[in-house]
Amino acid sequence: MPYKQQQSKQQVTRGILYLVGTPIGNLEDMVPRALKILQSVALVAAEDTRRAASLLEHFGLRPRLISCHDHNEEEIARQLIPKLLAGEDIALVSDAGMPLISDPGYRLVAMARAEGIEVCPIPGPCAAIMALCASGLPTDRFLFLGFAPAKRSARKIWFANVSQGRDTIVYYESPHRILESLQDAALAFGIERRAMLARELTKKFESWYGGTLGELVELYSTDGDHHKGEMVMVVEGYRGAEIVAERDEVVKLMTGLIPEVGIKRASVIAAALSGQKKSYCYQVGLELEVSSAD
Ligand code: SAM
Repeated sequence: MPYKQQQSKQQVTRGILYLVGTPIGNLEDMVPRALKILQSVALVAAEDTRRAASLLEHFGLRPRLISCHDHNEEEIARQLIPKLLAGEDIALVSDAGMPLISDPGYRLVAMARAEGIEVCPIPGPCAAIMALCASGLPTDRFLFLGFAPAKRSARKIWFANVSQGRDTIVYYESPHRILESLQDAALAFGIERRAMLARELTKKFESWYGGTLGELVELYSTDGDHHKGEMVMVVEGYRGAEIVAERDEVVKLMTGLIPEVGIKRASVIAAALSGQKKSYCYQVGLELEVSSAD
């Protein structure tokens, strides 16, 4: 098997559980390594065997398939673990994208790990990560929340729970609920919070709608094609405390600099030191002068 990784002596005869990413709309995103794995394994566990069969057929593959979805995963995992322990390699695929990301597979992977079976992810597209990366919103920290709850009351609580978090928030939303969901998001996060809606990624009508949540609500209040298709929402994290901290820093700098070099020069220096705009520092300086004159 060309893709076996190094195993300990005790594990030598065990199979590997591969988690294989598949395209989320564009068949050209099927990577050669994924195809090699799917061809070489004894069995492919698939969320929907008919969909998997037709995807694999497109690439000339006809592997043995077994169904593994949310409702039978535990039972299937109990069948697959002995096969892996006996040395069979097995691949898990979902309908689209990376398995386990709002898709089945967690229980199987947990059981495999508990048995000391090697688990090897084969990368493919993931709608959440693609939307985040291209959103223009901070990517250094993010919180992936899976699907937004279908019920409005649950969704409101769900948003409220994360409304003060600083991480960029990524979640999946159904096109049928998108307007209601955007309205709830705007209420919980504020209409000024920046967001990006990524639609139909990798497909012919891929589109991106960026702006404030207020602007997105306005856009989705009108009819049009933007209501259709698969969607990922990316919402900027809470920046309130950061803004206060940024202002505190500028106040400190301007208070020290104005008596030495005057407000104009102080704004230039404070901007260079704090990374804020010169006009913002100047404004803070003016406010300081007004308050000290009172
Ligand atoms: N495992 C998948 C992944 O890695 O992206 C996600 C599966 S989840 C059941 C399906 C949801 O992912 C869709 O309802 C949509 O919110 C999002 N999604 C999947 N494909 C997408 C695409 N091409 N464009 C935008 N969102 C997509």
